[in-house]
Amino acid sequence: MTFEVVFLGTGAAVPSLQRGTTSQFVDIHGQTFLIDAGEGVQLALRKNKRRFQRLKGIFISHMHGDHVLGLPGLLSTMSLLGRTDSLDIWGPPDLGAWLQQTWKAIQAHLSFEIRLHSWSEERTEIFHEVKHFRFASIPVKHRIPCCGLRIEEHSLPWKLNGQKAKEAGLPFDVRQALKRGETVELGGELLQPEMWCTSPPRPSRSYVYSADTRPCENLRLASKGATLLYHDATFNEADATRAKSTYHSTAKEAGRLARQAGVETLVLGHVSLRYKDLEPLRLEASKEHENVLIAEDGLLWRL
Ligand SMILES: [Zn+2]
Repeated sequence: MTFEVVFLGTGAAVPSLQRGTTSQFVDIHGQTFLIDAGEGVQLALRKNKRRFQRLKGIFISHMHGDHVLGLPGLLSTMSLLGRTDSLDIWGPPDLGAWLQQTWKAIQAHLSFEIRLHSWSEERTEIFHEVKHFRFASIPVKHRIPCCGLRIEEHSLPWKLNGQKAKEAGLPFDVRQALKRGETVELGGELLQPEMWCTSPPRPSRSYVYSADTRPCENLRLASKGATLLYHDATFNEADATRAKSTYHSTAKEAGRLARQAGVETLVLGHVSLRYKDLEPLRLEASKEHENVLIAEDGLLWRL
């Protein structure tokens, strides 16, 4: 089952030749989504050979230009190319009015329906759930309302040894509980999934996108045990004061949060143009967490 992320734009605020502004493409179990829409996101999708007409939905983390200014252009291109499938967009409460004004001002009409949903500013919340995976928005700590995102597969069922279960006459609800990996008491005996199933399932995978943020408790909790965490690392420790005043994080802070949350791999992103050499940022975070890399535009990560 596919679960991959393509980092389309990994720079902060201002696009450069090396780094575009924030956008990510996610393919989970064959369904595709976009996280944020920095300027020129259509071109980044094209460069990475990802089809935007097939996108099921778009998640917008906040209303700063480097995360949202590419959205009208992308929607407009989809429309010009004749999209008819409706599209879900989850974003800040202000997003709908802004898009409306934009269409009105440029006198545009889209060829497809947009279903806009506002994420909660109050609490971490599952906002999209289908058979095999779910999305949760995570209110984080930025200068304006902003949400990160956790994408997670549902736990996979254990494979029950049908023959053995049949011979023992296990009732239906007991079989179901064992498949969920639960220990069940039956007739004074404890039945463990290990004894009744052939092998444990592959662990479910999860991806967390921090969006722009200071390190915060919501994000720490929501990142627990994540397979991959992409964290704001706009600055290094020498610029920690600036990180605080602009509501961003340093590489070291990202490393610390990843360690505390027990994340498997940390990717540092939203890096400032001011640093020509990013190895010092990676080293800073590496003192806190053992698996750290710097995001690059076009990097594909298979979870
Ligand atoms: Zn921002």
